[in-house]
Amino acid sequence: MKKDGDSPARVRFAPSPTGHLHLGGLRTALFDWLWARKTGGQFILRIEDTDRRRFDPESMDSLIRGLRWLGLDWDEGPDIGGPFAPYVQSQRQEIYQEKAQELIDRGHAYRCFCTPERLASLRDEQRRAGRRTGYDRHCRTLSDAERSQREAEGISSVIRFAVPLDGVTVYHDLVRGDIQVENRHLQDEILLKADGLPTYHLAAMVDDNLMKITHVLRGEEWLATAPIHKLIVDAFGWEMPVLVHLPVILDPSGKGKMSKRKKLVAGKEFLALVHEFQDAGYLPDAMFNFLTNVGWNFDPEEEVFSREEAIERFCLDEINPSAAALPYEKLDWLNGLYIRGLTPAALKVALVPYLSRQLGLSEAELQKDRKLDVLIPVIQERLKRLDEGADWVDWAYLTSDEIAYSDPKLLIGRKMDAAQSIAMLRAGAALLEEVELFDADAIQEAFRERASELGVKAGNLFGPIRGAISGKKVSPPLFESMVALGRHETLQRIGRATAYLEGLTIEESV
Ligand code: GLU
Repeated sequence: MKKDGDSPARVRFAPSPTGHLHLGGLRTALFDWLWARKTGGQFILRIEDTDRRRFDPESMDSLIRGLRWLGLDWDEGPDIGGPFAPYVQSQRQEIYQEKAQELIDRGHAYRCFCTPERLASLRDEQRRAGRRTGYDRHCRTLSDAERSQREAEGISSVIRFAVPLDGVTVYHDLVRGDIQVENRHLQDEILLKADGLPTYHLAAMVDDNLMKITHVLRGEEWLATAPIHKLIVDAFGWEMPVLVHLPVILDPSGKGKMSKRKKLVAGKEFLALVHEFQDAGYLPDAMFNFLTNVGWNFDPEEEVFSREEAIERFCLDEINPSAAALPYEKLDWLNGLYIRGLTPAALKVALVPYLSRQLGLSEAELQKDRKLDVLIPVIQERLKRLDEGADWVDWAYLTSDEIAYSDPKLLIGRKMDAAQSIAMLRAGAALLEEVELFDADAIQEAFRERASELGVKAGNLFGPIRGAISGKKVSPPLFESMVALGRHETLQRIGRATAYLEGLTIEESV
């Protein structure tokens, strides 16, 4: 439901294509999207690619794939155009050049001809003297004649913003309230670089204005630049969009900012990039639910909600200013929940690409395979990520000779010896020859009955047979596993396991 005052917002996600999309960026995009959808406004994708040195051509693809994967759609953007196209900053150079000139004409910016060498030695000097480093405004007071002379000499120049020398700048952040900064602490930042491309400060302010952006959601790391942005916007005589700095996401140790690389903490791997989460088999719905609660809270009592519910409740005023570490266990829990919510047929479709990659079988073959139809409903309960599927079913795709019974413990039950286990394997095989209907319930009933006739615990009978057919201690429920393999293959495996145990020397079998 719209609150009073939530008129249609125009929000933009403005990533720099300098690498793969990470979870922090995706969270910003998600909040943008939620706000646009909630207010009935527009979500705009704008590519901020003016730093050519850090430009990574592959990242555009990764970005668009990541956003689409989460199910975010945009109303204007580089791929679909829109009323304020182009939406790629490197294609808007002339606009920024004109706007920088406009600031010079208004007396809010100036050309700076200082060479990189001069700036470097200035920095060294400041460091040596224990002073704050920064530009000394050397070119701010050049006379017209001095400036023209340098231009005539062809000395390359940048355009810098002329920060007011005194006074204070007050800006408002929706999450943190009013923030005040004394102008004497600010630097004359570069607006237009020597290569004619703008810096973020100029390009983002110009585009936010031209594209009629009403709300700027961005990471908290940009908070320190907000005073300069406010001054630039004021110098143009424009209105400031509502600033919403989103809380930092901390790494799993809770100490530093989450890095853009996956991290190993105490032997556990913590992912950071969106495509890594995708490859690990997190479902978009689970990620959507999870990320919506990073920095905002749907409801402390309700952990699971739909996209529609999130849109309805989402509110910028409730964004939490404090940084927090990602609760990875919660993501796993949620993902398990969403996996269990799929129909077995939908889970099969989702799982097949993972199995195909991990087991080296074709997707088409797996899609047709009936073993999976039997196993999926029983492993569904146990899966937290789709990339765990192969571990649960790989044994079913081996031939009986490929199952390595290299460890007798796998076949010899607890408190049993090799001879007893052989007896169990034989009893199981005899029974499987007999059962008429090769169905999980029927086999189970027959096995339990036989165990009680033999005066052994059911587990004593099941254990060696589980080891025999899967080659593993942990595998999907036994009787479904037999059905998946079929009578012939099941008997084949039990036969091989029996022979293996029979061939062990006395020492090996204890
Ligand atoms: N291009 C900036 C980034 O990639 C965008 C910051 C903003 O949203 O204004 O972080």
